[in-house]
Amino acid sequence: MSSFNGDVFKGLRITQLDDSDDDNVEAPMDPINVDEQFDDDDEEDDEDSEPVILGFVESPKFEWSSLRQLFPNLAGGVPAWLDPVNLPTGKSILCDLCEEPLQFVLQLYAPLTDKESTFHRTLFLFMCPSMSCLLRDQHEQWKRAPEKVMRSVKVFRCQLPRVNPFYSSEAPKHDGTDKPLGHGAPLCSWCGTWKGDKVCSGCKNARYCSQKHQSLHWRVSHKTECQQLRAVTESSGSGVVDNGVSLTQKHKVASKSLWKEFVMINVDESEYDTEMSEDDEAAKPLVPVREVNDDMKSLMKEYEGDADKQIWVSFQQRVDKAPEQVLRYCRSSGAKPLWPMASGRVSKSEVPNCKSCGGPRCFEFQVMPQLLYFFGAQNERESLDWATIVVYTCENSCDSSVSYNEEFVWAQLYSQTT
Ligand SMILES: [Zn+2]
Ligand SMILES: [Zn+2]
Ligand SMILES: [Zn+2]
Ligand SMILES: [Zn+2]
Repeated sequence: MSSFNGDVFKGLRITQLDDSDDDNVEAPMDPINVDEQFDDDDEEDDEDSEPVILGFVESPKFEWSSLRQLFPNLAGGVPAWLDPVNLPTGKSILCDLCEEPLQFVLQLYAPLTDKESTFHRTLFLFMCPSMSCLLRDQHEQWKRAPEKVMRSVKVFRCQLPRVNPFYSSEAPKHDGTDKPLGHGAPLCSWCGTWKGDKVCSGCKNARYCSQKHQSLHWRVSHKTECQQLRAVTESSGSGVVDNGVSLTQKHKVASKSLWKEFVMINVDESEYDTEMSEDDEAAKPLVPVREVNDDMKSLMKEYEGDADKQIWVSFQQRVDKAPEQVLRYCRSSGAKPLWPMASGRVSKSEVPNCKSCGGPRCFEFQVMPQLLYFFGAQNERESLDWATIVVYTCENSCDSSVSYNEEFVWAQLYSQTT
């Protein structure tokens, strides 16, 4: 498993099982910070100069591939909480607009080497699956009152030092035997996402993050399960820890409406440049590529004066190198997102400072609309759609008393209500 922002280039394409050479398994534990390698960025706002790591989704090879002790990169399904105990709670887990618990979109393992406290570092993105909430969220973003903005998209940052109460300080072996040091907080029986601090009074076994998930579960299946569970609990006489889930198995989730689960692999964007030229024969170099560029140039000319279309064309041109990318990662001081449209962008100065330390935030990654295709989003009126979702995180990746720090996320939508 390779980390974003870490030793990605080496960790890349080493699948977990094929990896018989133990030296290669260290990728997430021994990261090279992209920041340091490319610190001498010029003043130019040229996106091309910043090395971008692309994220792609694939089905998990093993059931254990997505367990938290492997520090995975995930999309869909349920999160693998890095700090499994001190999860976000209260209103922060809800869509502020409809007050339903948010749904897990993805998580990135992106450790930073410049300090001990970021030895492990994971970013978690959640959103409300309702498009009408996202449209209202967009509306809220434009209010420019950062403290009171209602959000349907949220991102959390969690980090841990190498020596911590939850994981061994040694790198995982990726062979199915890795275990965390202990159980995490019990999770919601319905969504498997958020802390289940409400217990079903019938069976005293099922747990819920919210009233809403309890009543959903009750209606769908728990009404009958509850009776059976009650009998089991009474005969065994023991309280069930962590919903009965062992340390090497996945938490069982009753909800069928979560997005399809993937693991994310990462590839340096520049590899797509070299692959193209290697495939060409020396006699006729880069002909197909040049044709594409000419097409693009004439399109650009046609669109002169139409900023949105021009930006869209250069966006498309860049993305076409690897059309299945679902994520673009680039955490270096000069990094900027690749915007699909001119309107609905946020500038760095408009990004609110870190709530925890007051320091500036920088761009870290963006989620591409392709992810929706893999999630199987329907082309219906109410179905979710976005142009890009851009995440800005504390430049210092500061430490604070809470385990999950909410960072700033900006959603650029195709359809905007103004
Ligand atoms: Zn909502
Ligand atoms: Zn729940
Ligand atoms: Zn029950
Ligand atoms: Zn901060």
